[in-house]
Amino acid sequence: RLQSSKNPFDGVFPAPSKMKFNKSFCTINSSWKIFDINKTNDLIDEKLKYFWKNKFNKKIEYSNEKSKHNIISLEISNSKKIGQLVGSYLIEIKKNKISVKAKTRQGLFYGLSTLLQVFEQNIKIPAGIITDSPAFSVRSVIQIKTRTVLSSDFKDYINQLADLRYNVVYLPTDAYFHLDKPERLKEITDVFDYCKSHFIEPVPYFETFGAGTLTRTQDPCLDEGIFHEKEIWKVSAKGLIELDVPRILDCPNTTIHIFTKAGKELKRYVDYKVLSTKKPKILIENNELFNTELLLSYDAVDFSLFPHPASCPSDPHGWELQENVIANTLTLLKPKSLHISQDEAGLINKCSRCKARGLSNQEIMIDQINRVHKLIRKYSKDIDIYIWGDLFNDFQNAPKLGVEGSIKGLPKDIHVHDWNYVGVYHSDKMQTINQMNFYFKRGFKTGGVAWFEPANVIDILQIGKKNSNKFLGIMHSAWAKFEHSLLPVAEANWTGSSILGDLDF
Ligand SMILES: [Zn+2]
Repeated sequence: RLQSSKNPFDGVFPAPSKMKFNKSFCTINSSWKIFDINKTNDLIDEKLKYFWKNKFNKKIEYSNEKSKHNIISLEISNSKKIGQLVGSYLIEIKKNKISVKAKTRQGLFYGLSTLLQVFEQNIKIPAGIITDSPAFSVRSVIQIKTRTVLSSDFKDYINQLADLRYNVVYLPTDAYFHLDKPERLKEITDVFDYCKSHFIEPVPYFETFGAGTLTRTQDPCLDEGIFHEKEIWKVSAKGLIELDVPRILDCPNTTIHIFTKAGKELKRYVDYKVLSTKKPKILIENNELFNTELLLSYDAVDFSLFPHPASCPSDPHGWELQENVIANTLTLLKPKSLHISQDEAGLINKCSRCKARGLSNQEIMIDQINRVHKLIRKYSKDIDIYIWGDLFNDFQNAPKLGVEGSIKGLPKDIHVHDWNYVGVYHSDKMQTINQMNFYFKRGFKTGGVAWFEPANVIDILQIGKKNSNKFLGIMHSAWAKFEHSLLPVAEANWTGSSILGDLDF
């Protein structure tokens, strides 16, 4: 289809939505100049320099007069012909002049990108008008590295995302926990600045609850434990008790208690010592208790019975850490959005800290999301907050955690990214549940994640379009093997449709 097309703009990715040509043509050559009154050090200038060097082996020249002939003018404009969504643009091609108009530099960049893609193949193009707009305002990608630095790989990736018109990238890094160190602040600020100069909004990503990776690596005491209450253990002939769990929490907010069968509590450091918390070993000092049975209460850390680990939502130190990371991230990096994960927790309400509160799993779940929401709102009234969709979804991971119904307590201004892969685990039951609908029906702004399965792109598009006022667009995830969905998601987010829909699976 593309080979036989006489319209060179048919080969642009993603293809512009509206094109109207007349019978004349425009031919550019190396003498053409650029008019760009708002020129800054952004990607627009970089792209032009690169293109001119490669195409004409010449340095690009700028002009101050947009009315002259042989000019490509880049203009910020409020013309009603330009679409509403940020990134929309208008190209007017005349015999001796091309103007690209948009409401933002981002729109100018996309317009220029369309033009340069065509000029790669043809320096003679039909005259006319092209109007183009993104279908969805959030066109996002999530990274999975635990430390993000401005490496050449990262730069290449961001350049690629900019060309594909992604405009949001979620960035996990432990730097958010160390922003009080100037070198770590600079490290992530450089990354943020680079993304912004490529018209991609960087969004901090850290886990406030869930598998809880980042908080848990800050303090192993924040692992969710399993409370063992007054369990009977035999003291060996040498005074040792060796527990059969991988680790115990011997932490400020969890305590080990040992009692005799008569109910007398042993004193720590006087009557016993904890020799090791991993493959736990406890030494009883009083030899009269050797070969007797004692009662032990402790929090074990043992994730072997669960699909994922979890962090404890009831430890005061956990909340101090969370407030610190939220305050630093929001005040020092000033992001427009924040992704706080809330996914794939393996267990909840099992440790002594949680159990002491006397709440149900659902009550703890609702309490923790409202607490973190309040902390974020304390430092920013208007930042967009994103979570994953699994733990609050009664048809996904909520039942595994025993927190069904928690959706009723989820603050309404939190947005959801759903990763329920209908296209992969295709069944009639999954179809009727239909992933994002759980959140759409309850009024939440929701987007879908495609993973590596292209069929998901079509599925998410169909459901998203039915809920267009609440739809956040499609997220491409870096856990997609081989980046299979990078291009299909880019196409769907920009054009609102997918070439995949024409194919048979
Ligand atoms: Zn707990």
